[in-house]
Amino acid sequence: MDVALRLADEYALDRAWSWAFPAGSLSANVATSAPTVKDSLSALALSIARLGHQGPEVFPISFTSPSSPLATLQDASIFPRDSVVRQLTSLFFIAYGGSFLLYWSISTLAYYFLFDRRLEHHPRFLKNQVRKEIVLSMKAMPAMAGLIVPWFVGEVRGATLLYDTLEEYGGGWFKGTALEGYGHWAYLTFSMVTFMAFTDWCIYWIHRWLHIPFLYKRLHKPHHRWLVPTPFSALAFHPVDGYAQSLPYHVIPYILPINKYVYFGMFLVVNLWTILIHDGDMINGHYLQKFINSPAHHTLHHLYFTCNYGQYFTWADKYGGSYRPPREDLDPIHDAVKNMDRKRKLAEKEAKQALREQNKQYADPSIEKAHESDSGYEGSEAELDNKPAVKVSHIRTASKDESHDIRRRR
Ligand SMILES: [Zn+2]
Ligand SMILES: [Zn+2]
Repeated sequence: MDVALRLADEYALDRAWSWAFPAGSLSANVATSAPTVKDSLSALALSIARLGHQGPEVFPISFTSPSSPLATLQDASIFPRDSVVRQLTSLFFIAYGGSFLLYWSISTLAYYFLFDRRLEHHPRFLKNQVRKEIVLSMKAMPAMAGLIVPWFVGEVRGATLLYDTLEEYGGGWFKGTALEGYGHWAYLTFSMVTFMAFTDWCIYWIHRWLHIPFLYKRLHKPHHRWLVPTPFSALAFHPVDGYAQSLPYHVIPYILPINKYVYFGMFLVVNLWTILIHDGDMINGHYLQKFINSPAHHTLHHLYFTCNYGQYFTWADKYGGSYRPPREDLDPIHDAVKNMDRKRKLAEKEAKQALREQNKQYADPSIEKAHESDSGYEGSEAELDNKPAVKVSHIRTASKDESHDIRRRR
């Protein structure tokens, strides 16, 4: 996050902060013999703006040359780069903007290219579900960004054990052995495995605890409105639920030294994974499904609630006795296809019924007679065309439904 913040500062936020709060817009003129209320308020505002400020040398220009006009902007605001208030605000927008972009790009791609849209015909698929998932995600996103921002501020202020270069850890490993020199790589691998094991284990239990009735009712239920989820449901959470499940990712860099680029990559990957396990794809029979918590496992979690709480792997579910392996007959696509067939048959039946009634009317001479005796009345357009308006619209509706069903089949 420190790299992201520095890049954002140098290329956009220095300018934005100096435009919104230019240096000199507040004076700390409280040393006069009789400071006014305005002076005191200015001084208070300035001390808030400079909260946590340690001097310009803490955040040196690194991506632009010191002679660049961008470089001169870093002290052009009353909020210096290392102001806690500025960091909280900037990181909020970075976190919010990042999750917004990731959600819309990856969920949209997954929805159109991975999600089997026949699932939208599943009997438990809600009316306007995709729209509802998006609305809930949009509401949750800023709140979730607000909740995680303090962790990011701690990170950019150097409170974590994240490290920059490969050489910083593992140098002493394998000293005097044939593997000497590979210690850094060994540590990197060790930290990644520990990272994954820790987050997987913690997320399993946090998710499982969220199913305790007291917490489920208050926090986790909104995410289980989607019995047949789509990729747009990945962030459709109560914000505290989403935050709770992301906590292990924020805690671990405070207790385990990890390369910061690896950490950032893994943070990105888990966000992608969260979207992808909601694509409803019940790929069955793959060998890796015994170990990987795939979309099939998470689809079963949404359908049956008390199984497959895991994140990347199935080991925690197996340990906790909540593992349910995906099976061909559990695939919700079967009910979706059955429902499509039922709707198609119903539409066909209605169309046939409408046609039969129409034919009956043509064959009934009393109707013709009634029309003739209705002198003085010019009749509706439908009647002039000798077609019953109600029946025609009925047929059109049925046909539309039918073609809708067929068009959605892939
Ligand atoms: Zn759940
Ligand atoms: Zn889910």
